[in-house]
Amino acid sequence: MKQTPDISFVIPMYNEEEVIATFFATMERTLSKLKKYTYEYICVNDGSNDKTFSILKSYAKKHPNIKVISFSRNFYKEQAIFAGLAEARGRCIIPMDADLQDPPELILKFLKKWEAGYEVVYGIRTDRKKDSFIKRATAKLFYKIFNMIAERPIPENTGDYRLMDRKVVDAILEIKENKLFMKGIFSWVGFKSCGIEYKRPQRVAGETKFNYWKLWNFALDGITSSTTLPLRIWTYIGCIIALISGLYAIYIIFRTIFMGVAVPGYASLFVSILFFGSVQLIVLGIFGEYLGRIFVEVKRRPRYIIDEKINCED
Ligand code: UDP
Ligand code: MG
Repeated sequence: MKQTPDISFVIPMYNEEEVIATFFATMERTLSKLKKYTYEYICVNDGSNDKTFSILKSYAKKHPNIKVISFSRNFYKEQAIFAGLAEARGRCIIPMDADLQDPPELILKFLKKWEAGYEVVYGIRTDRKKDSFIKRATAKLFYKIFNMIAERPIPENTGDYRLMDRKVVDAILEIKENKLFMKGIFSWVGFKSCGIEYKRPQRVAGETKFNYWKLWNFALDGITSSTTLPLRIWTYIGCIIALISGLYAIYIIFRTIFMGVAVPGYASLFVSILFFGSVQLIVLGIFGEYLGRIFVEVKRRPRYIIDEKINCED
């Protein structure tokens, strides 16, 4: 029977051949100061098409505490983290990016809070100057909208970088949803939480794996998986419009009775037809978003497909 490590690091990796060596070197340097903890790495190769997997293999050969899970294709970061959480055996679990944008110095602070009794300790990015202006602005807008309509708000400027107690991860693993929005899930499970601020540095090497289209879809998935408000709100908007139309109808009827039939009105008619036509299309689109989600969920496909596992338990 293998001993349970104190910490499991879960690292999703997609085409990260340039950063792996620096990542492990930096981690080992930081962790050498934390001698009293045992730890393991769970590296999830998310269908990379560079040398990520072969590099990971050679590391795993030399270090039995480096576990590797390799997906059959790119299933995206959320699924990679979930696969890592499922494999983690530690008493606490820390998901981290491979590019060192989640600074390892923070681990010590996380552990201190954990030992003080917090079950979730999340990192808050204070300085995002290194991210582009558009990324910061869209992120801000996303948090704003999300927190206005979601059942459970998520703390602004948090990522996946956080420490979670075993209990928290076990609760997350119970969730049967196929499409996961990790930030939403993290806050949905609850538990005693606190945040620690940090400056988010630049990627050590390579490029971001997220383009704006990916981020947009990520945001849509996030919202549709966390709230049904966009579906329900139409009842109220419909009621308000019906009320206004009712009043307007009464006005027109009275005007026609007392002042006769007025023929002009082409412009207002046309504008209102266009307006309500587009509102209906938007509503259909929103229905479509949710219908699509239901479709994906009822298919019950596996979240991801594992091609190979190294140093993992059966
Ligand atoms: N990542 C992944 N699958 C993907 C995209 C990204 O596993 O489809 C990993 C990536 O290798 C990195 C982490 O997710 O370890 C964060 O990605 P990135 O640094 O590109 O995102 P950013 O920091 O720009 O938001
Ligand atoms: Mg990054």
